Amino acid sequence: MTRQRGILDPGYDPDKLSIGVLHLGVGAFHRGHQAVYLDDLARQGETGWGILGVNVTAPDWTDAFAATGGRYTVLEGEGQGWSARRIGAMRGFLYRDGGETGLDLLADPALRLVTLTITEKGYCHSLGTRSLDEDGPIAGDLDQPRDPRTAIGYLVEALRRRRAAGLPGLTVASCDNIPDNGRLLAGVVLDYARRVDPALADWIADAVAFPVSMVDRIVPAVDDAARILIAAETGLDEPPGHAMGIVTETFRQWVIEDRFAGPRPPLESVGVTVTRDVTVFEHMKHRILNGAQTALAHLGHLSGFSTTAACMADPVMATFARRFMERQAAVTTEPPGESLAAYVDRSVARLTNPGIHHPLPQIGTDSAFKIGQRIGGATADLLVRGGPMDLHALMIAGWIQYVCGRGRDGRPIPVNEPGAVRFAALGALTASSPRDRALAFLALDPFPRALAADDGFVVLVEDMVRRLSARTPRAILVDLLA
Ligand code: NAD
Repeated sequence: MTRQRGILDPGYDPDKLSIGVLHLGVGAFHRGHQAVYLDDLARQGETGWGILGVNVTAPDWTDAFAATGGRYTVLEGEGQGWSARRIGAMRGFLYRDGGETGLDLLADPALRLVTLTITEKGYCHSLGTRSLDEDGPIAGDLDQPRDPRTAIGYLVEALRRRRAAGLPGLTVASCDNIPDNGRLLAGVVLDYARRVDPALADWIADAVAFPVSMVDRIVPAVDDAARILIAAETGLDEPPGHAMGIVTETFRQWVIEDRFAGPRPPLESVGVTVTRDVTVFEHMKHRILNGAQTALAHLGHLSGFSTTAACMADPVMATFARRFMERQAAVTTEPPGESLAAYVDRSVARLTNPGIHHPLPQIGTDSAFKIGQRIGGATADLLVRGGPMDLHALMIAGWIQYVCGRGRDGRPIPVNEPGAVRFAALGALTASSPRDRALAFLALDPFPRALAADDGFVVLVEDMVRRLSARTPRAILVDLLA
């Protein structure tokens, strides 16, 4: 590997990579995570795992790709002494390709792995199920399955072509931050395929593997500050709007279920854990790291902070984050080879990283999908275990205020929350007294029933809802943490 203009070049010829992986959903996370692992493989001399990226929704990287050949910079670090590397593994990109090229590429025998980061919404499922929400965007694809517009419709049409070409199945790995992501993906793909072609559904069930995976790296959206930092560190200025470069932390982790159809990349050789049980790793991450991120997203925003690192620079919020993680860890199983105490320490350090500009509203997006997996289950477990519940009650009360879209001072909160429409329909957003509000929200499906059924906890949440109408979460925490 060589350094040119301060950049660690791949040290291989990207043009010699053949495409072995199709990735659906080329956003920040894919560029800063899976693509980096596949780039590591190419650096080891594996030439069969180049990536074809496909987006069925924005962003469109077509121009950026044409300008750079798909090469981009990943800047890794903890706020000082950044290291830069060029990624060469991305070998092609297609946008909204309902036509022949993209769909037929999945019917190429060399292609053996599909990965996805399409966000929770991309799965087109009814919340809390592994079945399609047939009234959502998937309805159009169900009418016209040969001209798909959704990622699920695209995947199934491409698999239909693969089967028609007499090719073997392949592995389709969700890398979205959803519990049991592979099972959800299998559920919606099979549900969709059964509706359009039951024989195809049978083939997919036999020939396609949907491993669960746990993915971890904090990869914020690329803003102007990130672009300017990359230019300053590397001398390469990526044009605004076409910037594929990433600024991220040094840490990364990928744990994938040992469930593959046919040949797969030798992922272990680049530090991926291939294991039979991903669940324990998922629980650790969702409850401890992501639980604290979600708690800070809502309580931090309502306290006037803008990023996770800004929260963690405040002693009150940092103490809250650590204590909240310790309580979540107390009801989490320790995965093999991990120490939960060390995981909490590492998570505190990662969230404190001043070099990572992770805006709280970005983390707070889609919270209806996230709060159950990250906080709801652990809260129910903590109620069974016994012990203080004040921080969890405050967190949930803060989430309620956030989702209702008005701060203490009446100012609107910019909520990106598709679940809010459903909550409104259920009357939760209009419940007026703190008690009604606490009861209405705790009865929503992200939360286990045990929460609304525990009167002591309802009273605690009600009390926090009331307190939040007069004070910021930070001011309340000063008392709670004393
Ligand atoms: P991003 O906004 O940069 O990219 C989102 C990607 O998802 C885009 O490629 C977009 O085309 C696609 N997408 C969005 N809505 C879609 C839909 N309805 N159907 C199909 N595709 C759709 O976001 P990101 O940072 O790349 O995060 C993507 C996902 O990665 C997250 O939802 C999360 O599950 C996972 N993840 C992200 C991080 C992180 O730190 N960014 C960490 C762990 C996991």
